[in-house]
Amino acid sequence: MHQPGRYIPSDSPKIDAHAHVGAFGSWCGVSVGAEEMCEIMARLGVKRTIISHPDNRTTLEAQRRRPDQFAALAWLNPADGETAVHKLVELAEAKQIQGLKLHPLFNAFVADDECVFPLVEAAQKRDLPIFVHSGHPPFSLPWSIGQLAERFPAARFVMVHMGHGHGVYIQAAIETARRRENIWLENSGMPMPGKILEACRRVGSERLFWGSDAPFHRHEAEMLRTEVSGLAPSELEKVFYGNIKAFMGWRDI
Ligand SMILES: [Zn+2]
Repeated sequence: MHQPGRYIPSDSPKIDAHAHVGAFGSWCGVSVGAEEMCEIMARLGVKRTIISHPDNRTTLEAQRRRPDQFAALAWLNPADGETAVHKLVELAEAKQIQGLKLHPLFNAFVADDECVFPLVEAAQKRDLPIFVHSGHPPFSLPWSIGQLAERFPAARFVMVHMGHGHGVYIQAAIETARRRENIWLENSGMPMPGKILEACRRVGSERLFWGSDAPFHRHEAEMLRTEVSGLAPSELEKVFYGNIKAFMGWRDI
């Protein structure tokens, strides 16, 4: 029986739609290794985690060691031009990745800058979903991601953090996804449980994914925020598991 305010059972399956393995230095000062991440996942019933890291070798090594636990995204910088496109194609053709990660803040480009277009075209051609960090001005605002999604209606975008920590951006993330059917929302690092419920009501309960953003955030805290959001048990099952499973086309978990 569902008890509001309690963790959903650790044996109910979950998929983490956004996290990282490896170290992030400078101001971040966070890290988690692949084995440690797998231990956390096993404890909490997380069957698979979608991972990315600025150094793709870190991601690919974790995925190679634990192919059932990790799905890799290629983190590419659009400023690298053709080199980035070639890398995406190479990794996709080798079936080493299952999507593209864009981090407009980290790599300092506006989300809908024309330098992004060749990467989006290459990802779209291979039906690779595009995960875009959101929530930090001036580069990664929901409106810019919306404009990118409008320009590429056949590409599939995940707005990672659904606006992140600022209420105005969170509201814009919901409104942008409501207007654009090719945007899905991922809720890690977003502090307002009520906005998880609102996103499900206004955008659709099939368009929201749960994520931990480990090691920046803790799995348990991110889980609890979704758990107390007011979603019905059937909606929690979709947000924690069913939606991202269908989105990624996974039949093996
Ligand atoms: Zn992240």
